[in-house]
Amino acid sequence: MKYQHSKEESAEYLRRALPLMSGQNAAFHPVSYAVWYEYVAGMNTRLSETLGDLLARKGKLDEHDIVKLFECHVADVSDESASSFASGFQRILGEISQSTGVASQAAGVFNKTLLRMSQGDALRNPENFAQLLAGTQSMQASVATLNKRLESSQSEIETLRAEITRAREASLTDSLTGLANRRGFDQALADCLAHSRDTAPEGPCLLMCDIDHFKKINDTYGHVFGDKVIHAVASVIKQNIKGRDTAARYGGEEFVVLLPETSLQGAQTLAEQIRGAIERGRIKRGNQDETAARITLSLGIARHLPGESPTQFIERADRALYAAKQGGRNRVSLAAAGQG
Ligand code: GH3
Ligand code: MG
Ligand code: MG
Repeated sequence: MKYQHSKEESAEYLRRALPLMSGQNAAFHPVSYAVWYEYVAGMNTRLSETLGDLLARKGKLDEHDIVKLFECHVADVSDESASSFASGFQRILGEISQSTGVASQAAGVFNKTLLRMSQGDALRNPENFAQLLAGTQSMQASVATLNKRLESSQSEIETLRAEITRAREASLTDSLTGLANRRGFDQALADCLAHSRDTAPEGPCLLMCDIDHFKKINDTYGHVFGDKVIHAVASVIKQNIKGRDTAARYGGEEFVVLLPETSLQGAQTLAEQIRGAIERGRIKRGNQDETAARITLSLGIARHLPGESPTQFIERADRALYAAKQGGRNRVSLAAAGQG
């Protein structure tokens, strides 16, 4: 669950969200509250930016603005696509059932005709024979229609299935960087720990990374450039991982890399590689040739301990990251095994 605030914190957000919500033209519903909650909690930079721009432009937000903000920046898979998939399936099923009904009705009529013909010497009458032939043809036509309908339903269902897969992938992906988002990472971590053998020398390792003094980058060059930096750091991370590794944007300017089959030493080498590449890299601002201030990254590493929960594993990597920050930033720090 993405809302991890305490009761006291969330009460404060409620107090701040209510007056903001009541100042708009949208109704007071949970969709609207989710938007304003994330806004006042400052937990969703892109939402805050878009919402800020909209407010500056329009003064008051209406129902449509709120729903759009919710769909683009809050919801994982939009209510709209979920209900469009559901109604798509329902329509296809309805049409198939209609075609089956027609075919079964035709079969019933044909069956009665056959019964009639089988009595006495009815078939000697050429008129009856013609009737039988017509019945067969009509049956064939109904079955052919049903077949066609089934074929086209199959391809419509394939299209819907592909759309659902795409929407599902989008719900696990961070739109700014193309890396996994927090939800995608949580799934990858749960999956990895369920299948890992902690006794193997190459075990799950976790890198927790955070851009140094990022607030200053935003304050000096603006949020748009800040986003560019986040994107560039993500690209460096992406270029350095391989195979079964999962890189994710864990929060604003924080990243995690899950290495299911890498030794602690290998993880350390990789972390140094990423740190060095970022330290050496230069990100251009707009069309100007001028380069930005040096960007650096601090990293914490933890090797999974037997029996450790995902949260404990992440917390240990986070503590190692904190140690890297305390140690002067732009460095890699290892979590002590057993550090609780
Ligand atoms: P430290 O070296 O201790 O990590 O310093 P810091 O300035 O990076 O500290 P902190 O982690 O507290 O600051 C992160 C800032 O990142 C705060 C927030 O305004 C900004 N931020 C979070 N998400 C985004 C985003 O998506 N885009 C941009 N441009 N800024 C973001
Ligand atoms: Mg941070
Ligand atoms: Mg930071």
